[in-house]
Amino acid sequence: SPLLKLQGLSASVGDKPILHDIDLAIGAHETHVMMGPNGAGKSTLGHVIMGDPEYSVTSGTVTFDGQDITDLSPDKRSRAGLFLSFQAPVEIPGVPLSSFLRATVEGREGFNMKGKEFRKHVRELAKSLDFDPAYLDRELGVGFSGGEKKKLEMLQLLLLKPKLAILDETDSGLDVDALGVVSRGIQEYRKTCDGTLIIITHNTRILEHVDVDRVHVMVKGHLVHEDDAALIADIDAHGFERFEQAATPKA
Ligand code: ADP
Ligand code: MG
Ligand code: MG
Repeated sequence: SPLLKLQGLSASVGDKPILHDIDLAIGAHETHVMMGPNGAGKSTLGHVIMGDPEYSVTSGTVTFDGQDITDLSPDKRSRAGLFLSFQAPVEIPGVPLSSFLRATVEGREGFNMKGKEFRKHVRELAKSLDFDPAYLDRELGVGFSGGEKKKLEMLQLLLLKPKLAILDETDSGLDVDALGVVSRGIQEYRKTCDGTLIIITHNTRILEHVDVDRVHVMVKGHLVHEDDAALIADIDAHGFERFEQAATPKA
């Protein structure tokens, strides 16, 4: 049975329906890509899978690792092995990154490491990603570049080792540095955690070095198409127009 299964999932913000009758199955250790035009509902899907209270599930179910998690809190989902990358980390001047990362895993199973041991572990993770360990002493303050934000996300990913990671990549503002960081993080997560991925993106350059199992297309809150990795090149060449036309109800 799949690691993640959405069945007839619909969700709203307030009175506004956004996701409609979503069926989706993600097998363990697979890499899926979620594509679609701006405003299609891709980020909302990620938030709903994580249980973000901003959105309400109006029908359907979310099953993860054999458990119905439709009503589970975001924290419990995270502890169950779900991870959603966030695009804007908090800014806490004076707090070094290493301390922030420590707080991320505080109280979690398997993280009763002493301070020194923990710092060593994080330094090793940073090295495996080709990050300068000096980065860990940076304060979690203002002025992070896109690449530096991405480094934090990728360190959290490798630290938490989630069973399923949802990476929601902004469609704009990923410079070459940030692209490299994400691409490196994905490869390391696949290699060392044998993890499962949902990559939400327009930016097919992120996917150049990633083995993709399935590609899903979302339009106007509906999943309208699904195919193998060849679909990425097709969308690169032809865009979403044919899917958008199919999704427009006849007047
Ligand atoms: P995508 O990630 O595919 O660009 P989003 O999930 O961000 O799409 O948005 C889908 C639709 O839901 C958009 O019309 C957006 O305005 C709306 N939406 C998403 N989140 C909220 C929210 N918190 N409040 C109001 N509308 C929202
Ligand atoms: Mg968007
Ligand atoms: Mg989005």
